[in-house]
Amino acid sequence: MKKIVFIVIVACVSVTCTSTAQKNSNTKPMEFKVQKTDAQWKAKLGDISYYILRQKGTERPGSGEYNLLFKEGTYTCKGCGTKLFESNSKFNAHCGWPSFDDAIEGTVLYKTDKSLAMQRTEILCAKCGGHLGHVFNDGPTKTGKRYCVNSASLDFEEKED
Ligand SMILES: [Zn+2]
Repeated sequence: MKKIVFIVIVACVSVTCTSTAQKNSNTKPMEFKVQKTDAQWKAKLGDISYYILRQKGTERPGSGEYNLLFKEGTYTCKGCGTKLFESNSKFNAHCGWPSFDDAIEGTVLYKTDKSLAMQRTEILCAKCGGHLGHVFNDGPTKTGKRYCVNSASLDFEEKED
């Protein structure tokens, strides 16, 4: 009898532990190499970039400074400086946001986003977790991808001659 009680207790404890662990993994924010408090991000980024990168906002179409920029260079994360997109992957999607057909390998994370009653794929900087925009499968080039990115999440390093 004692043995049965013991087994029941062990079973209960392990169930509790498992459910707590699952809860934690769902609610715990992902750990990124670059970590700052909200106040530090706000001070570094300014209002618009903070709203985009840290609060998953979207800039008004056509309002961003890189929408129609087609110079040679590299687009970096405004939050942490990671190189994300090369200018040779940029194209004019006529959608109002800078669009790329590919990201520099390993620099971008993909996450399912079910907000606004749509299912989209959110793109985030892999190093600081900053929200960049979304990626769609309707790109016109051979990659078939359209990375739709907010200008305010990016900086641009022009290629030197
Ligand atoms: Zn970043």
